[in-house]
Amino acid sequence: MLTAVVGINWGDEGKGRMVDLLSEHYDVICRYQGGNNAGHTVVNDRGKFILNILPSGVLRDGTVNVLGTGMVLDLEHLMHEMGSLQAQGVEVSASNLKISNRATICFPYHKMQDVLEEDRLKDNKYGSTRRGIAPVYADKYIKKGLRMGDLLNLTTFREKLKHILDWKNLILRGVYGETEIDIEDIMAWITEFGAPLKSFICDTGEYLEQAVSGGKNIIFEAQLGALRDIDYGIYPFTTSSQTLSSYATTGAGIPWAKLDNAVGIVKAYSSCVGEGPFVCEMFGIEGERLREAGSEYGAATGRPRRVGGFDVPASKYGVKVQGASYLALTKLDVLTGLGDIPVCVAYEINGKRTTEFPIGDDLTAAKPIFETFEGFNKEISNCRKMEDLPKSVRKYIDYLENALECEIKYISVGERRGDYIER
Ligand code: GDP
Ligand code: MG
Repeated sequence: MLTAVVGINWGDEGKGRMVDLLSEHYDVICRYQGGNNAGHTVVNDRGKFILNILPSGVLRDGTVNVLGTGMVLDLEHLMHEMGSLQAQGVEVSASNLKISNRATICFPYHKMQDVLEEDRLKDNKYGSTRRGIAPVYADKYIKKGLRMGDLLNLTTFREKLKHILDWKNLILRGVYGETEIDIEDIMAWITEFGAPLKSFICDTGEYLEQAVSGGKNIIFEAQLGALRDIDYGIYPFTTSSQTLSSYATTGAGIPWAKLDNAVGIVKAYSSCVGEGPFVCEMFGIEGERLREAGSEYGAATGRPRRVGGFDVPASKYGVKVQGASYLALTKLDVLTGLGDIPVCVAYEINGKRTTEFPIGDDLTAAKPIFETFEGFNKEISNCRKMEDLPKSVRKYIDYLENALECEIKYISVGERRGDYIER
């Protein structure tokens, strides 16, 4: 069984939480895009964990975890993340972690360039996590990247790095007036943070091919959500990689393989980190209460997330582009005690009502059309059956399912592993 677990919205839907739950029935968990700009929070019997790079499967004994070809890896961050997991008693070794020899290395100069560019843009900034993601993907696509497999021969690595730095320094100096990067500093960084990872590097394609032919079950864990996909998201307020399920097998290392299903993770309300159109956004005291109730502060950055009511046009679009087989609705418990539930049921664009998700200037011009649904005051985190939920909650779920035209199979009612209802 090959399953992608993907975000329907702007990210932070609870993908890590759902992967942690679903991984019970899977053998291999792969990340296939992005880097340490992810923040996947998992709360289970071992504690609370925030994963930026490692797949959420590392918390499940017996799984093998893969950092796929489509990823960008900040080696320093990766080493620290592995170290802090080990300090929390979680085993991370070459037997349960495989790193693709084709994954791209995210260097300190990428982080530096990200910060310099965001600062240069001032009020027009993208709202980047400042972790080098856009610059490192840009370098990958203009073929000025270095890959994990390059670490296996440091002599040729150094030669390739020198050519790249000759070029990169022109930009850092000429565009930003910065001092040049010294190759020795980068080689020292590589010795400290790259060399210890050598035993983890392999052809994840070969490994996954064996896993598939051996009948293993594989999860492809996405980072961010449909609306942040570089091609199909709210460009340019996207991330720099493909967050869609259709990229999962390619980004992991087995482009020939077909997914059996894609589980879309969708939140009971909306949140968004960074800049760009966010039609359903709620402001003032109402927004503040929702943000507090949902603890909507970025796991990777600590930034307050923008929040809003459930957005039907955006989520319907997310379901479509993700090719979701079914959905997991998360954070439903957050709506307890917040009064009636606002839902953005449609957009109004230049006087016309639509439930189709627009692009470009139409999206910027879109105004939300809200309807309210009856709220609830009952604590629902202990509910394990649909019958346990208040009637108004069930009506809300039915409405969402109909509006999205996709089955909601799981309902998450709390952050802990067992806080869910399976329908
Ligand atoms: P991801 O990036 O999609 O993995 O999501 P994040 O981990 O960034 O954000 C989701 C947050 O909500 C995390 O802090 C989770 O622990 C938490 N969470 C997930 N599902 C639920 C839920 O059903 N209820 C509550 N209250 N919290 C949840
Ligand atoms: Mg997150």
